[in-house]
Order: sequence, then C-alpha cells, then structure tokens
Amino acid sequence: MRSDRVVIITGGSRGIGAATAKLLASANYHVCVNFLSDDAAANSVVSTLTAAGSTAIAVQADVSTESDVVRLFKTVDEQLGTVTALVNNVGIVRPQMRVEDMDANRINEIFKTNVTSAFLCCREAVKRMSTMHGGQGGSIVNVSSAASRIGAAGEYVDYAASKGAIDTLTRGLSLEVAGEGIRVNCVRPGFIYTDMHADGGEPGRVDRLADSIPMKRGGEPIEVANSIMWLLSDEASYITGTFVEAAGGR
Ligand code: NAP
Repeated sequence: MRSDRVVIITGGSRGIGAATAKLLASANYHVCVNFLSDDAAANSVVSTLTAAGSTAIAVQADVSTESDVVRLFKTVDEQLGTVTALVNNVGIVRPQMRVEDMDANRINEIFKTNVTSAFLCCREAVKRMSTMHGGQGGSIVNVSSAASRIGAAGEYVDYAASKGAIDTLTRGLSLEVAGEGIRVNCVRPGFIYTDMHADGGEPGRVDRLADSIPMKRGGEPIEVANSIMWLLSDEASYITGTFVEAAGGR
C-alpha cells in the first residue's frame, strides 16, 4: 500500500536515526532506514517497525557516494513511493585530536560523509519534491550539532566545521526552495547517548561532560527525534530555514 508520507532517514539503523525511524513509523510514515554496513542493526529496526504494523525497508547505501545516493532514492521510488520527507542524519567523528595533527584523508572523509552526503540527498529529494519539477512539496530536516556553534576545540574541529556547512546548507537551500513547497530546517543536538562517541575514542564522553551541560545531563535520542518529527510535520507548516537546539541549554 502506498502512503502520502514517505521518509528517508540516512543512518537510520542506530542512535538518533533509529529513534526517529520508530517515531515517524508510529505517525504513519512509510520509512526507509538507510545504513552503511551493519545489516543486522538496520534489519532489527525494520523488523520492530513491521511487527508493529508499519511499512519499512532497510537500504544499504554509502550516502557519501553519488551513485549510492541515486540508487537509494530510486529504490524508495520503487518500493515505497515518492519521498515526501528526508532526514539527513548521517554524521561521523574520528578520534579526538588537535587540528595540527589532522591529515587531509581524515578531513576529506569527514566532509565527504557529513556534508557531500547531505547535498546529494537534498538534490535527489528536491528533484522529487519541488513543485517546479511537478512534485507535491516536502520537508527536509538536517541534523547538525551544537558543535557548529561551539567549535569542539581539542576534540574534532573538523566535525564541528562540517556541521557549520550543514547549517549554511540549511539556510541557503531553504531560501532556494521556499517558493516550491519544500521546507528545510535543522536540529542541533548537544551531547546525546549514542555509539557515536565510541567512534571518537571515548564511549563515556557524555557522562564526562554532563556536568558542563546547563540541564546537568546528556540527552536521549528520542529527545532529538521529537524535534525532527515536529519540524517535518504540518504543525511546522510556516517554519523554514530555522534551527532547533536540542542541547539541554548548551
Ligand atoms: P551513530 O549512533 O553513530 O549512528 C550513525 C549512523 O550513520 C549509523 O546508522 C551508520 O550506519 C550510519 N552511517 C555512517 N556513515 C554512513 C554512510 N557513509 N552512509 C550511510 N550511513 C552511514 O550516530 P548518532 O550519534 O545517532 O548521530 C546522528 C546524527 O546526530 C549525526 O549527524 C551526528 O553528527 C549528530 N549529532 C550527534 C550527537 C551525539 O551526541 N550523539 C551530538 C550532536 C549531533 P552503520 O552502523 O551501518 O555504519
């Protein structure tokens, strides 16, 4: 059965993406859970959704690669219908270090995965959503980070700068397509309990920093997912080019 709400969530197999997939499925979206390599995690999210009566598929695609992004959107066209919502959620960090120790490979990998991916997914979404191309409109939420404001000094300035680019993409694209039925907004999470911190070399990072957060605790993925769902929804119908800080006051 086709739905009038079809969402692609990049990196939907764990953390914030998986929480968002579950929330949107419960709101009757048909959900595409994109992932890079962990089939078991992605299939487990999809099984949970389908067991609850939702329509969901898992699609492996490296969203930093153009041909994979094209295949991802085509698969969704064929299996779920035309995308109406996109959550650009993929984001990676690499081990904490100072800028003076970073090499070009690392910096390029961060920008390709965190920024090029979002541009490519926005491109494919706009081609399908824009009323200028005969589409019905749609909504895009980019997942940035409080790091874009704060800079992540001594940890990963490359990651923070990539999120600065996501903020600018949000603002620029929102203006480009505002008259074509597409809203583009952004959520900037703070320290959230997910596996991403282990990839940065410090699994316990959120607990270490909890005391520095005005609300004195890390956030849960569902607390970010709630903001994403609201921005995608018709309740935010007059909101575009804006930013929700989900960072406990940071
Ligand atoms: P996470 O738990 O590390 O999950 C990352 C997801 O992205 C996984 O589903 C992973 O799939 C997928 N992925 C990674 N590279 C990919 C690629 N090239 N193509 C497709 N999928 C890819 O992440 P998270 O902590 O939930 O973060 C989600 C977003 O929130 C990111 O943009 C992050 O920067 C942002 N954020 C997080 C925090 C935080 O404290 N956690 C704070 C601020 C902002 P596989 O498992 O298959 O590799």
